[in-house]
Amino acid sequence: MSTKHKLLLGAHMSIAGGLEQAIIRGDSIGCTAIQIFTKSNRQWHAKEITTDDALLFQTTFKNSGIKYIAAHASYLINIGAPNHEINHKSLKSLITELQRCELLQIPYLILHPGNGLGTPEAECLKLIAQNINSALGSTTGKTSLLLENTAGQGRNTGYKFEQLATIISQIKDQSRIGICFDTCHAYAAGYDLSTTEGYEKTWAEFRKHLGYKLLKFIHVNDSKQALDSRVDRHEHIGAGKIGKLGFKLLFNDPHLFDIPKVLETPQTQELVDDVHNMQIIVNLLETKHHDLLKNLKLAEYLK
Ligand SMILES: [Zn+2]
Ligand SMILES: [Zn+2]
Repeated sequence: MSTKHKLLLGAHMSIAGGLEQAIIRGDSIGCTAIQIFTKSNRQWHAKEITTDDALLFQTTFKNSGIKYIAAHASYLINIGAPNHEINHKSLKSLITELQRCELLQIPYLILHPGNGLGTPEAECLKLIAQNINSALGSTTGKTSLLLENTAGQGRNTGYKFEQLATIISQIKDQSRIGICFDTCHAYAAGYDLSTTEGYEKTWAEFRKHLGYKLLKFIHVNDSKQALDSRVDRHEHIGAGKIGKLGFKLLFNDPHLFDIPKVLETPQTQELVDDVHNMQIIVNLLETKHHDLLKNLKLAEYLK
């Protein structure tokens, strides 16, 4: 059982104006965990991170109330692609992203496993594992790779815990691989987090195939689309098909207290929507767990 400390909660933050600005934004609304892209997520190109950029990022982090930062890899990367050129480009880009995280001292890089575009599943999972082994082998080891469960949209793999387990079983350096669990993706892939029974069944499956030890990060998103729809559309907490009960179960689950949780919910007004979603989550905490809010800037902010 985990040791209880502060609520580790926040949201994905924009790096507009500089990488360190993401920390300043998150800190301004009382986040204790954030996620960033270290570069534009829809471009291959990455502007170099200078020593000064890295230093400023680390100092800003140390002086903030944020305890955890994860980076999300570009959506262009597909290390499961059968096309040699795309695969090669993806691996190169993944290595660059790991190196960027190392420079910034970000411990986790979150990656969607990949899309085999119709190749047999076992082949695709094997290719993904081989590429991860290459990427981890080409970097110094300060940053771990977290595979995110997907909604299984299109021909994306990694929507079943078994598929993630198959990839992980083929990874040479087990100390540098983990899981980022996305609630919206899980629900869209058929894991019913909306009821007590479904919630317990989902985590029993998770324990059976993966285990809490691999779980390092959680994306908290409600789902606009139905259970098993295999469509990835994020919704505000409690406003989607998972609903408030699902998130109440998650945020009061002692197994998950120490896992940082970040929102990737729709943004109509920067930070305002995040504060609103965090407020909903704090209100879902049972009174017996209110010590999680102790000395938390977020709690002051929400008063
Ligand atoms: Zn993702
Ligand atoms: Zn996600």
